[in-house]
Amino acid sequence: QPVVGVLALQGDVREHLVALAECDVLARPVRRVEELAQVHGLVIPGGESTTMSRLLTNFELLEPLRLRLKEGLPAFGSCAGMIMLASTVLDGRPDQHQLGAVDMVVRRNAFGRQVDSFEADLDVTGIEGDPVRAVFIRAPWVESVGDEVEVLATVPDVPDSGAAAGRIVAVRQGRVLATAFHPELTGDGRVHRLFADTVRAA
Ligand code: GLN
Repeated sequence: QPVVGVLALQGDVREHLVALAECDVLARPVRRVEELAQVHGLVIPGGESTTMSRLLTNFELLEPLRLRLKEGLPAFGSCAGMIMLASTVLDGRPDQHQLGAVDMVVRRNAFGRQVDSFEADLDVTGIEGDPVRAVFIRAPWVESVGDEVEVLATVPDVPDSGAAAGRIVAVRQGRVLATAFHPELTGDGRVHRLFADTVRAA
């Protein structure tokens, strides 16, 4: 079975470990370089990207993780994890580091106060059956993507926020997936299974 790590510096680590355990992979928390070296794929959870960025530096994981991603490590980032994976962040802190694994510009806390948190049913490319119930919590959206990036989902329509409709909220670039929402919170394992399949195929 492939080993899939969850970056465990901060954020909703446990929920991802639980979701991955259902996907025929060995799920493990990753806090140290030696642990990172042992995984075949890595989930970067939701949380707070500025804090995660700082902790990546403190735990001396930033450069090793950038290197593994460059070498093709499959990764999945949700919410703050999506922000971390992006090449560019808007409304971030000036000292916030990016992993640069997906050629995209993301905007932090993009949905604004009115819709700080909301849920929506999304059609996600690559996921069969019913729409995915997507939970957004102070979520980013994707402002723009490069040529190599496939858009997997956009926001259909959010009450009281016309600006959000059509915004990109799930993407894939090669072996790296990112969602602005939190599939680890709904008990619907399909996004994690999509990622686990990506790890197995790699
Ligand atoms: N707003 C957070 C950030 O900027 C992300 C929120 C989340 O992960 N639920 O990192």
